[in-house]
Amino acid sequence: MKKGYLTAAAAAALSAAMAFGAWAASFQTVNQVMYVNANSLNVRTEPSTTAGKAQSLSRGTAVQANGISGEWARISLGGKNYYVASRYLSSGNSAAASTATAAASTPVSVPEGVTVSDVSVSDNLRFASSSKIKTGTAKLYKNAKGKYGDKVICVNAGHGTSGGERVKTLSHPDGSPKVTGGTNQRGAVESMAVSSGMTFQDGTPESRVTLQEAQILRDVLLKRGFSVLMIREGSDVQLDNIARTVLANNYAACHIAVHWDSTSSDKGAYFMSVPDGLKKMDPVSSTWQKSEAFGEALIGGLRGKGVKIFGGGSMDVDLTQTSYSTVPSVDIELGDKVSDHSEATLRKLAEGLADGVTQYFTK
Ligand SMILES: [Zn+2]
Repeated sequence: MKKGYLTAAAAAALSAAMAFGAWAASFQTVNQVMYVNANSLNVRTEPSTTAGKAQSLSRGTAVQANGISGEWARISLGGKNYYVASRYLSSGNSAAASTATAAASTPVSVPEGVTVSDVSVSDNLRFASSSKIKTGTAKLYKNAKGKYGDKVICVNAGHGTSGGERVKTLSHPDGSPKVTGGTNQRGAVESMAVSSGMTFQDGTPESRVTLQEAQILRDVLLKRGFSVLMIREGSDVQLDNIARTVLANNYAACHIAVHWDSTSSDKGAYFMSVPDGLKKMDPVSSTWQKSEAFGEALIGGLRGKGVKIFGGGSMDVDLTQTSYSTVPSVDIELGDKVSDHSEATLRKLAEGLADGVTQYFTK
């Protein structure tokens, strides 16, 4: 087109449209959660394959689409608009069907600068051979520009492994018997790979509440500038307690497993500290003091938010998780069967836990 045929105003409008998005007019407004149906989908700053790449999204990631034009979909990430090739989005989550992850994942609003990738258990990792359910993938949210982006916090939504209660794994790496009871009995050499968890008095499964809490905690930690390893992002992930611990050991600086207890007294929050009988066992001998300091920091954070704390804030329990942990690792019980688990309460708990994490890494 020759500018000579246009009025000056029309030419200015045209060149502005070409520079800033003639495409904007052709996007049809939609409001739909869609799922990435590609191994790695490029997220671009403009609807063009030559536009800058903001990040990439892995298969099964839920995104909020707000506009569609033939080739491109406009999605919202962290409050900003980005563009992806529309043919790699689907309205159903095919990844969930094949890998049994992220089935009930809520839309992920990833802050700017955060990249998301899948991580899985490879056989060469220490203790991987003791895991029996390890085909699932966890999600690593790398907050490269975050204030504490070099610290990856493993957030482990307790339970949620279909069939996990029917599989047994070694309670301790060395095959020795459990020194306390718990979900599995004292003296047992094997424990449930993943138990199914309790049911709240109102009928809500614990695994649903632990997931909701984990998602809120993920977002709070990302906002504070930490990186996050999310073990489970849907109703089911095929990773047993050993596999979850192996991933935390290799990809994270610490490990928080989120639970509610099976009592019915609204007794308050506490973490599971390491029994004396385990303190000489490898690898517990080199991690238990750090795990306990980390647990104390989390309880301190919760206390600071006015959360009710049970007793001194800890109870010695022999857990598969801590028995295999090589990074500071805590199972925290945030309440029990009759405790309030409204979103407001879960937010308060997440803020308290994030305060504890911040305190632990900045002390
Ligand atoms: Zn639990």
